[in-house]
Amino acid sequence: MALHIFGDSAVRGKNKSENLVVGDAKLKVNEVMEDTGPNYELLRELVPEEVVEKIRRFGLRVCQGEDLCVWKHTVDGEFTTKSAWEVIRKHGLNCTWRRWLWQDFVPKKMSFICWRARRKAIPVDDIIRSIRIPIVSKCSYCLHPQVETLNHILCEGDGAKQVWKFFAEACQLQLPHIRKWEGMMSFWWEHSMRSSQVGWTHGVLPIIILWALWKARCLA
Ligand SMILES: [Zn+2]
Repeated sequence: MALHIFGDSAVRGKNKSENLVVGDAKLKVNEVMEDTGPNYELLRELVPEEVVEKIRRFGLRVCQGEDLCVWKHTVDGEFTTKSAWEVIRKHGLNCTWRRWLWQDFVPKKMSFICWRARRKAIPVDDIIRSIRIPIVSKCSYCLHPQVETLNHILCEGDGAKQVWKFFAEACQLQLPHIRKWEGMMSFWWEHSMRSSQVGWTHGVLPIIILWALWKARCLA
Protein backbone atom coordinates (compact mmCIF):
# COMPACT_ATOMS: atom_id res chain seq x y z
CA MET A 1 0.00 0.00 0.00
CA ALA A 2 1.76 3.12 -1.22
CA LEU A 3 -0.74 5.75 -0.11
CA HIS A 4 0.70 8.79 1.60
CA ILE A 5 -1.23 9.32 4.77
CA PHE A 6 -0.98 13.12 4.60
CA GLY A 7 -2.09 13.10 0.97
CA ASP A 8 -5.68 12.55 1.98
CA SER A 9 -7.59 15.78 2.40
CA ALA A 10 -9.71 14.18 5.11
CA VAL A 11 -6.56 13.64 7.19
CA ARG A 12 -4.80 16.81 6.07
CA GLY A 13 -7.83 19.07 6.37
CA LYS A 14 -9.27 21.18 3.57
CA ASN A 15 -8.06 24.35 5.19
CA LYS A 16 -4.44 24.83 4.14
CA SER A 17 -3.46 26.20 7.52
CA GLU A 18 -4.19 22.74 8.95
CA ASN A 19 -1.64 21.30 6.59
CA LEU A 20 1.18 21.11 9.08
CA VAL A 21 3.95 18.74 8.14
CA VAL A 22 4.61 16.86 11.32
CA GLY A 23 7.11 14.09 10.92
CA ASP A 24 7.52 12.59 7.47
CA ALA A 25 5.12 14.19 4.99
CA LYS A 26 5.54 11.11 2.77
CA LEU A 27 4.57 8.66 5.48
CA LYS A 28 2.81 5.71 3.92
CA VAL A 29 -0.37 4.19 5.27
CA ASN A 30 1.15 0.72 5.49
CA GLU A 31 3.91 2.04 7.74
CA VAL A 32 1.39 2.77 10.47
CA MET A 33 -0.94 -0.17 9.91
CA GLU A 34 -0.92 -3.48 11.70
CA ASP A 35 -3.18 -6.49 11.17
CA THR A 36 -5.67 -5.24 13.71
CA GLY A 37 -5.73 -1.62 12.51
CA PRO A 38 -3.68 1.57 12.82
CA ASN A 39 -0.83 1.72 15.32
CA TYR A 40 -2.16 4.63 17.37
CA GLU A 41 0.89 4.76 19.61
CA LEU A 42 3.11 5.43 16.60
CA LEU A 43 0.60 7.83 15.06
CA ARG A 44 0.51 9.89 18.22
CA GLU A 45 4.25 10.53 17.85
CA LEU A 46 3.78 11.72 14.28
CA VAL A 47 0.61 13.76 14.16
CA PRO A 48 -1.43 15.94 16.51
CA GLU A 49 -4.15 14.30 18.60
CA GLU A 50 -7.00 15.70 16.47
CA VAL A 51 -5.55 14.00 13.38
CA VAL A 52 -5.26 10.71 15.30
CA GLU A 53 -8.93 11.15 16.17
CA LYS A 54 -9.84 11.71 12.50
CA ILE A 55 -7.94 8.54 11.55
CA ARG A 56 -9.75 6.64 14.29
CA ARG A 57 -13.09 7.81 12.88
CA PHE A 58 -12.22 6.47 9.40
CA GLY A 59 -12.10 2.93 10.76
CA LEU A 60 -9.14 2.07 8.50
CA ARG A 61 -8.37 -1.60 7.94
CA VAL A 62 -6.05 -3.55 5.69
CA CYS A 63 -7.58 -5.74 2.96
CA GLN A 64 -5.81 -8.63 1.32
CA GLY A 65 -4.97 -8.57 -2.38
CA GLU A 66 -3.47 -6.24 -4.96
CA ASP A 67 -3.62 -2.47 -4.52
CA LEU A 68 -6.44 -0.80 -6.44
CA CYS A 69 -6.88 2.80 -7.50
CA VAL A 70 -10.16 4.16 -6.18
CA TRP A 71 -11.42 7.72 -6.05
CA LYS A 72 -14.56 9.58 -5.17
CA HIS A 73 -17.11 10.18 -7.90
CA THR A 74 -18.06 13.69 -8.98
CA VAL A 75 -21.30 15.31 -7.81
CA ASP A 76 -23.20 13.87 -10.81
CA GLY A 77 -22.00 10.38 -9.91
CA GLU A 78 -19.47 10.00 -12.76
CA PHE A 79 -16.01 8.46 -12.28
CA THR A 80 -14.13 10.50 -14.88
CA THR A 81 -10.44 10.75 -15.67
CA LYS A 82 -10.76 14.40 -14.72
CA SER A 83 -11.97 13.51 -11.23
CA ALA A 84 -9.10 10.99 -10.92
CA TRP A 85 -6.61 13.66 -12.03
CA GLU A 86 -7.98 16.06 -9.41
CA VAL A 87 -7.22 13.42 -6.80
CA ILE A 88 -3.67 12.61 -7.85
CA ARG A 89 -2.42 16.01 -9.02
CA LYS A 90 -0.14 17.87 -6.66
CA HIS A 91 -1.96 20.69 -4.96
CA GLY A 92 -0.46 23.49 -3.00
CA LEU A 93 3.27 22.95 -2.94
CA ASN A 94 4.04 23.68 -6.59
CA CYS A 95 1.71 26.60 -6.46
CA THR A 96 3.31 28.21 -3.42
CA TRP A 97 6.75 27.69 -4.91
CA ARG A 98 5.67 29.50 -8.05
CA ARG A 99 4.04 32.27 -6.10
CA TRP A 100 6.88 32.97 -3.69
CA LEU A 101 10.22 31.82 -5.03
CA TRP A 102 11.00 34.63 -7.46
CA GLN A 103 10.46 38.04 -5.88
CA ASP A 104 11.47 41.38 -7.38
CA PHE A 105 13.16 42.58 -4.21
CA VAL A 106 15.01 39.36 -3.40
CA PRO A 107 18.39 38.88 -5.08
CA LYS A 108 18.07 36.22 -7.76
CA LYS A 109 21.12 34.37 -6.39
CA MET A 110 19.11 33.61 -3.23
CA SER A 111 16.06 32.30 -5.07
CA PHE A 112 18.37 30.40 -7.36
CA ILE A 113 19.90 28.45 -4.45
CA CYS A 114 16.39 27.37 -3.36
CA TRP A 115 15.58 26.40 -6.92
CA ARG A 116 18.79 24.36 -7.19
CA ALA A 117 18.19 22.67 -3.83
CA ARG A 118 14.72 21.66 -4.94
CA ARG A 119 16.21 20.08 -8.04
CA LYS A 120 18.95 18.45 -5.98
CA ALA A 121 21.52 20.37 -8.01
CA ILE A 122 23.67 21.27 -5.03
CA PRO A 123 26.92 19.49 -4.16
CA VAL A 124 26.16 18.06 -0.73
CA ASP A 125 27.55 14.69 0.24
CA ASP A 126 24.36 12.62 -0.12
CA ILE A 127 23.72 14.02 -3.60
CA ILE A 128 27.33 13.37 -4.64
CA ARG A 129 26.96 9.82 -3.33
CA SER A 130 23.70 9.39 -5.24
CA ILE A 131 25.63 9.80 -8.49
CA ARG A 132 27.93 6.98 -7.34
CA ILE A 133 30.93 9.00 -6.30
CA PRO A 134 32.07 7.29 -3.10
CA ILE A 135 32.96 9.77 -0.34
CA VAL A 136 33.08 9.69 3.43
CA SER A 137 30.53 12.13 4.70
CA LYS A 138 30.53 14.18 7.87
CA CYS A 139 28.91 17.53 8.45
CA SER A 140 31.30 20.06 9.88
CA TYR A 141 29.28 22.22 12.24
CA CYS A 142 27.15 20.04 14.51
CA LEU A 143 28.12 19.16 18.05
CA HIS A 144 27.59 15.51 17.08
CA PRO A 145 28.54 15.38 13.40
CA GLN A 146 26.31 13.38 11.12
CA VAL A 147 26.15 12.41 7.47
CA GLU A 148 25.80 15.56 5.39
CA THR A 149 22.48 15.53 3.59
CA LEU A 150 20.64 18.41 1.99
CA ASN A 151 17.95 18.11 4.62
CA HIS A 152 20.50 18.07 7.42
CA ILE A 153 22.09 21.30 6.25
CA LEU A 154 18.86 23.11 5.51
CA CYS A 155 16.53 21.85 8.22
CA GLU A 156 17.56 19.13 10.64
CA GLY A 157 21.14 20.01 11.57
CA ASP A 158 21.79 21.82 14.88
CA GLY A 159 22.58 25.14 13.24
CA ALA A 160 19.67 25.04 10.79
CA LYS A 161 17.21 24.17 13.55
CA GLN A 162 18.35 27.11 15.65
CA VAL A 163 18.16 29.55 12.74
CA TRP A 164 14.60 28.52 11.76
CA LYS A 165 13.53 28.64 15.41
CA PHE A 166 15.06 32.08 15.95
CA PHE A 167 13.28 33.63 12.98
CA ALA A 168 9.99 31.86 13.70
CA GLU A 169 10.02 33.34 17.19
CA ALA A 170 10.94 36.77 15.82
CA CYS A 171 7.96 36.53 13.46
CA GLN A 172 5.73 35.09 16.18
CA LEU A 173 5.13 31.95 14.18
CA GLN A 174 4.57 28.76 16.10
CA LEU A 175 6.85 26.32 14.39
CA PRO A 176 5.63 22.70 14.43
CA HIS A 177 8.15 19.88 14.36
CA ILE A 178 9.16 19.88 10.69
CA ARG A 179 11.69 17.38 9.41
CA LYS A 180 11.95 18.30 5.73
CA TRP A 181 13.31 21.56 4.40
CA GLU A 182 10.65 21.71 1.66
CA GLY A 183 8.04 21.36 4.40
CA MET A 184 9.68 24.25 6.23
CA MET A 185 9.44 26.48 3.15
CA SER A 186 5.79 25.50 2.65
CA PHE A 187 5.00 26.23 6.28
CA TRP A 188 6.36 29.78 5.99
CA TRP A 189 4.64 30.35 2.67
CA GLU A 190 1.34 29.18 4.06
CA HIS A 191 1.66 31.99 6.61
CA SER A 192 2.58 34.59 4.00
CA MET A 193 0.59 37.12 2.06
CA ARG A 194 1.54 39.90 -0.29
CA SER A 195 -1.09 42.31 1.01
CA SER A 196 0.79 43.20 4.20
CA GLN A 197 4.44 43.91 4.94
CA VAL A 198 4.53 41.32 7.73
CA GLY A 199 2.93 38.71 5.47
CA TRP A 200 5.37 39.52 2.70
CA THR A 201 8.30 39.18 5.12
CA HIS A 202 7.10 35.67 5.98
CA GLY A 203 7.25 34.83 2.28
CA VAL A 204 10.70 36.25 1.69
CA LEU A 205 12.48 35.17 4.86
CA PRO A 206 12.70 31.42 4.12
CA ILE A 207 14.46 32.19 0.83
CA ILE A 208 17.03 34.34 2.60
CA ILE A 209 17.43 31.80 5.42
CA LEU A 210 17.97 28.96 2.99
CA TRP A 211 20.58 30.94 1.11
CA ALA A 212 22.34 31.89 4.37
CA LEU A 213 22.35 28.27 5.57
CA TRP A 214 23.92 27.19 2.31
CA LYS A 215 26.53 29.97 2.49
CA ALA A 216 27.35 29.00 6.07
CA ARG A 217 27.82 25.40 5.00
CA CYS A 218 30.16 26.44 2.19
CA LEU A 219 32.28 28.50 4.59
CA ALA A 220 32.40 25.80 7.31
ZN1 LIG B 1 25.43 18.50 11.27
